[in-house]
Amino acid sequence: MTVWNLGSINIDHTYHLPHLPRPGETLSARDYRKGLGGKGANQSLAAARAGASVVHLGAAARSDDWVVGRLTSAGVDTTHIVRHHDQATGHAIILLDDDGENSIVIHGGANRTLQQEQFKSAIARMKGRDFLLMQNETNLQVELAQVAAKRAVRVVYSAAPFDIEALRAVLPHVSIIAVNEGEAAELTAAFGEDLAVEGMLITRGAKGAEYRDLRGGRSFEVPAYPVEVVDTTGAGDCFAGYFIAGLDRGDDIPVALRRAAAAAALKVTRSGAGDAIPKLDEVEQFLA
Ligand code: ATP
Repeated sequence: MTVWNLGSINIDHTYHLPHLPRPGETLSARDYRKGLGGKGANQSLAAARAGASVVHLGAAARSDDWVVGRLTSAGVDTTHIVRHHDQATGHAIILLDDDGENSIVIHGGANRTLQQEQFKSAIARMKGRDFLLMQNETNLQVELAQVAAKRAVRVVYSAAPFDIEALRAVLPHVSIIAVNEGEAAELTAAFGEDLAVEGMLITRGAKGAEYRDLRGGRSFEVPAYPVEVVDTTGAGDCFAGYFIAGLDRGDDIPVALRRAAAAAALKVTRSGAGDAIPKLDEVEQFLA
């Protein structure tokens, strides 16, 4: 089936500096790296690398073929990505110093300009047994979740960046909610244990992950694989994309969890976000 993903596309500009700049200070960066980021793009990449048929719904500047090309070359269908002449592609300016401290500026840009009308033909193709992934980084989650749920599509909501009002608005249309440990605590504080969703994916960093089948009243856990950690950015997105690709393929939950944990373990051994998400054959090799 198709995994649709309504999500942000960002360019991560990362600069290494001797120290973070003080107000008024001009600093020369030691090096610069441009990478693909945005929770949406990361999850599309992960699900596509896991073998799913993924269509990304989002937007980017007309001039940024580079970023759309990264998704296309990973096998993501990018034909529904809206290209703007007058909006910047979403981006993050990431400043890192020698002590591992960082300062980050994010500009949502084109990610925050989406209109339902722009995805009319995609919506018309959505059908039961498809998945619609979404995170909280565009302006269209509620509208699209609502129309997709009406078409019997299972909506998977990654509640990050966590915002209780955004979550409250989208929740009636969500089948599966994906959160990390901190977000899970906020979710429980706000809604208690009884969420009216089909399932809940909770990732817990080096402690592993859990899927709660709330309809069936069962819970499945997977430990994290012990690896040498280089950079955990995007680990949660890698896990979520791989896990949903597994469900889409019809894998049993423990199988989907195991493969997602292996993919996320490989991801944390590499620096970068989207670019560091492994391919399925690398994951299979890791598990062999
Ligand atoms: P991010 O915001 O950086 O994408 P997150 O907070 O959403 O991350 P985490 O719960 O930290 O997500 O990590 C997701 C998954 O990645 C974990 O469930 C685990 O499988 C894997 N992972 C994360 N950290 C480690 C680690 N130190 N060692 C092995 N696996 C890890």
